[in-house]
Amino acid sequence: MKAAVYTGSQLEIEDVPEPTPKEGEVLIKVASTGICHSDLHLLSGELVGPIPKGFIIGHEISGWVEEFGKNVKNPYGLHEGDPVLVSWIVPCGVCKYCANGKENYCKENANRLVGIIGVDGGHAEYMTVPEIAVIPLARNLDPYYSSPIACAYGTAYNALKSVNATSGKSVVIIGSGGVGSAAIQLANAMGLNPIIAVDIDENKLKKARDLGATHAVNANENDARSKILEILQDGADIVYETKPYPDLKLSLEVVKAGGSIVVTGLGGFATMAQIPITLFVSKGISIVGSLGYRPRIDLPELVSLASSGKIDIRKLVSHVYPPEKINEAYENLKKGVHIRAIVKWN
Ligand SMILES: [Zn+2]
Ligand SMILES: [Zn+2]
Repeated sequence: MKAAVYTGSQLEIEDVPEPTPKEGEVLIKVASTGICHSDLHLLSGELVGPIPKGFIIGHEISGWVEEFGKNVKNPYGLHEGDPVLVSWIVPCGVCKYCANGKENYCKENANRLVGIIGVDGGHAEYMTVPEIAVIPLARNLDPYYSSPIACAYGTAYNALKSVNATSGKSVVIIGSGGVGSAAIQLANAMGLNPIIAVDIDENKLKKARDLGATHAVNANENDARSKILEILQDGADIVYETKPYPDLKLSLEVVKAGGSIVVTGLGGFATMAQIPITLFVSKGISIVGSLGYRPRIDLPELVSLASSGKIDIRKLVSHVYPPEKINEAYENLKKGVHIRAIVKWN
């Protein structure tokens, strides 16, 4: 099968053996994979250290069930050929984190994150994963355009929920890339208002308005802080900083007293943020970190939101690449060309 294999310095399309599902695993025929900013942190070694040669990355995955390994429990009653999402978070399903709805913090994740560490990812025609990572997709959704549910949307959704984003609250979303754009659509579906998008790219801000932002602030042209405080005098209930290297600077300036800042950009281990302590304490600000999503809770809810038309997933994907152009896709990601790009594998 065709796969984008890590050679020690870059990705190369190679012909590699098709994997066979082991006990409790499912073989997936990959429809598409997303080109996610976390992959840049991964490829540079900032995320989990050097990637082993021959590893296959790609963690935002949709596809179809091709074959079941022995002894799968198949809780969703899936059949071969059914469309599915593959979660990059592969929880154990039984520990105290998993039992308490915090499966994204399951300790098992340290050794197995699909396409990141321990488990080959989806930049390939086929892949195998433990069945807990396989979530059914609705029939009325196009599997090719659904892969962003399994990272961009999942990450944004869990982040918004972790700061109790509910109808009527105000939100500032800093960064209008894949995760930020997904957050705008979700905030809109969840009834937040106003939804203020901040970016430095005018095209992304235009798209942000199209996705449901009520206001768009260009942080390059304006003093973003005063622009936001013109709209929300007391500041925002929620600030979602989606930047890949979060610094919390603007977030702390525009969050209201008693408000929350949520951060999902992994930044790499060397990235630090400075917090003005007096401001932080005197305004009673909550700063919340949020890793990915809970596959068995958040992904089915997102599938339902997309399937019922509350979010239009087709609008998020701005670019579609063939496997042979995968390095170009990552180069364009670095240049800020995409909202979300996908690679089609089958
Ligand atoms: Zn991702
Ligand atoms: Zn667990």
